[in-house]
Amino acid sequence: MLLITHVFNIKLVNYPSFLILHIVRLMSKYKTSGYKGSYDYSKSEEREGRSLVRFKCGLLNTIQDVLRQRPGWVEVKDEGEWDFNWCDVGWLRENFDHSYMEEHVRINHFRNHYELTRKNLMVKNLKRYRKNQERDVGRLEASKCDFFPCTFALPSEYHLFVEEFKRSPGSTWIMKPVAKSQGKGIFLFRKLKDIMDWKKDGTRSEEQKDAAQVESYVAQRYIENPYLINGRKFDLRVYVLVTSYVPLKAWLYRDGFGRFSSTRFSLSSIDDKYMHLTNVAVQKTAPDYDPEKGCKWQMQQLRRYLTAKHGRETVETLFTEMDNIFVRSLQSVQKVIINDKHCFELYGYDILLDQNLKPWLIEVNASPSYTPSSQEDYEMKCRLLEDTLNVVDMEGRLTGKEKRVGGYDLMWNDGPIYREDVNVETFGSSCFTANTHLGCVNDREKQLRWLLKPFPGQKRM
Ligand code: ADP
Repeated sequence: MLLITHVFNIKLVNYPSFLILHIVRLMSKYKTSGYKGSYDYSKSEEREGRSLVRFKCGLLNTIQDVLRQRPGWVEVKDEGEWDFNWCDVGWLRENFDHSYMEEHVRINHFRNHYELTRKNLMVKNLKRYRKNQERDVGRLEASKCDFFPCTFALPSEYHLFVEEFKRSPGSTWIMKPVAKSQGKGIFLFRKLKDIMDWKKDGTRSEEQKDAAQVESYVAQRYIENPYLINGRKFDLRVYVLVTSYVPLKAWLYRDGFGRFSSTRFSLSSIDDKYMHLTNVAVQKTAPDYDPEKGCKWQMQQLRRYLTAKHGRETVETLFTEMDNIFVRSLQSVQKVIINDKHCFELYGYDILLDQNLKPWLIEVNASPSYTPSSQEDYEMKCRLLEDTLNVVDMEGRLTGKEKRVGGYDLMWNDGPIYREDVNVETFGSSCFTANTHLGCVNDREKQLRWLLKPFPGQKRM
């Protein structure tokens, strides 16, 4: 009880006994994390970071390996007290509201991360943001939000959807369950009769109405002209780390990859998921899938390919447009996400390119897969996760002013971040270049050697 009152900073001496009991019962409903447990941290350690970090990990893949190998970090199981928690979203839903967290504690999700990572809510927030931009700054600025395909929530927006559907007869749409992943439940359609179950009006039979409510889906315009390499469709997986929403502070990772479909693209058959869905989980089950070759290209390889084909300037424009997607999508939820200094989030963005090299935002994942599909993929994910921990900086080795940490470049800190090598006085503001290097060389080890002071027990990088 002493501990609880210490944590909640309450002096009980002035309270009547029944109230004390009530307060204690109330407080013991909260699982406290990161309070003074068996390791007694001094105040100076609190400020400067810690040489010993107690972590909890709810996943059994690459992240667990990375956490276990980190010098000075020890794993705690079950109800043990922790300083750092890499949890799954299920744990968050059940426990976050009952957890008291001390100042230094960190956890890998924001409480209502789903505002950006559930398909229907992402689109709702983006539509509202675009409308506000149009009202506040004008049409031109609002048009910079036109990076997501036209989307409707079903069944709630069925009538709006039908109006739009009828405006472009013959076009292809894609139906996606709002809360599923890995391509589950997705199908393409061109006829309204294929989505009768989501029809929301009096023409459904009594029997249909009585049936269990249909699952929430989004109907989205299908990108019919994807950019193809060797006749195959692919999408890009990009990693963006947010360490604060107010002010917005976001980092872009240099590595990422393209995920290819195994079957040559064609619009003549819309039922072939191996042709239309680029999820690794789907492609892995294709009859001709070769686990040796996999279905991925590293981002660097993709950037080189596109540069050789279209020239540097075109590709730089494409990557600048992708930066615009990352920043604006985060801004669209900035006011709705519950900002909490204990939270950070590593988002996996899915971007699709069309034949005009326009990038489209398909989805943002709160739990991008860390399960490796090859040795190369494993190494990339280790780098990504190690650098995520470097940015989160439980060890307190950073000053907070860094624009680069390993493979992460600071993209936004309450405003755009520009590269240091740009001479502002000579070139003026029109030559500002964004501090992003997606698909560029990731010489992280060299940068980390320079950046980080070794701490006791740390292996040389
Ligand atoms: P999931 O969460 O199940 O992975 P996604 O929205 O990421 O669902 O879609 C799965 C895949 O379907 C994408 O990786 C992409 O290949 C394809 N896809 C999704 N939406 C579209 C679209 N609007 N146009 C073209 N392809 C799409």
